[in-house]
Amino acid sequence: MAVSQAVPITRHPFADGSYKKMLIDGKWVDAASGKRFETLNPATGEMLATVAEGDAEDINRAVAAARRAFEGPWSKAKPFERQNLLLKLAELVEKNFEELSQLDTLDMGAPISRTRGNRLRVLGMLRYYAGQATSLHGETIENSLPGEIFSYTLKEPVGVVGAIIPWNGPLAATVWKIGPAIATGCTVVLKPAEEAPLTSLRLAELAMEAGIPPGVVNVVPGFGETAGAALAAHPDVDKVAFTGSHITGQSIVRASAGNLKRVSLELGGKSPDIVFADADLDAAVPGASMAVFANSGQICSAGTRLFVEEKIYDEFVGRVAEFGRKLQVGNGLDPNTQIGPLVSEQQLERVTGYLAIGQTEGAKALAGGARVTEGPLAKGYFVQPTVFANVQDNMRIAQEEIFGPVISAIKFKDMDELIRRANATTFGLGSGVWTRDVAKAHHVSKALRAGSVWVNCYQAMDPAVPFGGYKMSGYGRESGKQHLEEYLNIKAVWIKTA
Ligand code: ADP
Repeated sequence: MAVSQAVPITRHPFADGSYKKMLIDGKWVDAASGKRFETLNPATGEMLATVAEGDAEDINRAVAAARRAFEGPWSKAKPFERQNLLLKLAELVEKNFEELSQLDTLDMGAPISRTRGNRLRVLGMLRYYAGQATSLHGETIENSLPGEIFSYTLKEPVGVVGAIIPWNGPLAATVWKIGPAIATGCTVVLKPAEEAPLTSLRLAELAMEAGIPPGVVNVVPGFGETAGAALAAHPDVDKVAFTGSHITGQSIVRASAGNLKRVSLELGGKSPDIVFADADLDAAVPGASMAVFANSGQICSAGTRLFVEEKIYDEFVGRVAEFGRKLQVGNGLDPNTQIGPLVSEQQLERVTGYLAIGQTEGAKALAGGARVTEGPLAKGYFVQPTVFANVQDNMRIAQEEIFGPVISAIKFKDMDELIRRANATTFGLGSGVWTRDVAKAHHVSKALRAGSVWVNCYQAMDPAVPFGGYKMSGYGRESGKQHLEEYLNIKAVWIKTA
C-alpha cells in the first residue's frame, strides 16, 4: 500500500467551521429544539461545520411547507417551467462543480478524482430529468363497454416525497431524489445522512438561487432514529424514497404502514463478480479490483464476492492482491489518492470487525487486512485495500455486506454450480461477468438474479438506464423512465360521450 502525502486543508467556503441552518419553506432556520451536531472530515477527524439537528418537530414543519407548496402555485407549474428550473439548477451545479466536489470529498472522504469524475453523471441526471419533465403523458385506451364512453389516463405527481439518503455519494444521491420530484411536480423533504449533510445543504442553496419556489425543496439534517424515522412515519408524506441499508429499509417499510405511503428502496448488496478463465485478464484485474475498492468499498453494488474460475484462481487473485497493494491510500483532497478513508469511526469499527472475522473464519488476507495506523493517516479512518483468498460461500465475509475495501475471492468450477452459488444470497443489486464468450455472457446475465449485470465492465451507470434491486436489495428503480413512474400516480378518467 502506497500512502499519498497529507494535504493541507485549505478552508472551503461551505466547510469553514461555521454553523449551517436547515431549509424549510425557502427559509434557513434553526432546529425547533435549538440543537446542533458536528460533521467531521473522516480523513483528519477535523470538524467541518456544525449543523442544525432536526427532529420530529422540524420534520412536521417541513412536511407542512411541502404540502402547502404542493397544493399552492407549484401544482400549476407547467412542465416547461419545471424543466427550466431543473436546467437552471444544472447550470448552477456546473458552475459550482469544483466546490461541490471538494465538499463531498471533505465531508465523506472520497478521492477528489472520484467526486470530480461524477460531473457528467450529476449534470446528466439533472438534464435528463429536465427532459423528462416535458415528456410525461397518460394514454388514451380503447375500452369494450357498450355505448360511447371514452377512457384515458392522467399521470399526476404523487405529492409530498420524503427522501432519505446515505453518505456515500451525497451530491449524486441528492440529485437522484430531488430531480425526479421536480420533474414530476412533487415537493420534497430531504433528510441527508448525519455523517455527510453539507453537500445537500449547499445544493439546496443552489436550488433557491435557481428559483425553485419555497417549500418545493426542503432539507432537514438530523439523525436516522429521530428525523429519519419521523419522516418515514409521517401521515402527510405520500411517498418515501430511501437509499441506505436493508435494516433501515425494513424499518421504513414498517413505518410506512401507518398511512400506506408509497415506498421505493435502494438498499445494500453482496454482488457477485464472476471471472471466467477465457476473460481478458488484463482488463479484468483492474476492473474487478475497482469494482470493490472504488469509494473504499462504500458502494451498495460493489462486486464484493469475486468468483474466479478454478484454473486461473491463484494467478488472478494474486494479481488482484498486487493491484490492491499498489493503490495509493490517502486524504481525498490529494489528486493522487485512489483510496480515501471510510466515512466514520463507526464504519471503521464495522469493517475492521469483518477483517477479524475473515481471518477467524480461515480466509487468507493476500493484501491488506488492517487499519492504517502509522504516519499522517493514523488520525483518519483508513483501511488497507484487502483481498481475502480461500473464501467459502458460507463464511460471513461471503454473505454479509461489509461496506469497506474488502474482496472475498471464491473459487468455482462449472457453470451450473456457479450460477446457483452466485444467486445464493439474500441480496440482488449488482453483478459482473468477465468473459470473451458472448454466449456465456448472455447465459449468465439472464441467470443472475440482480438488478444490474455488467459484462466486461463494472458500475457503468447512466441517467437513462434503470438501476435498482432484486430481493433484499430493495424495490423500485432509479434513473430511466421507471424512476419517474415512482413519483407519479395514474388516474383513469371515463367520459360518457353519448
Ligand atoms: P448506512 O449504514 O449506510 O449509514 P443507514 O440505512 O443507517 O445506512 O442510513 C441511511 C440513511 O437512513 C441516513 O440518512 C440515516 O440517517 C437514515 N436512517 C437511519 N435509521 C433510520 C430510521 N430508523 N428511519 C429512517 N431513516 C433512518
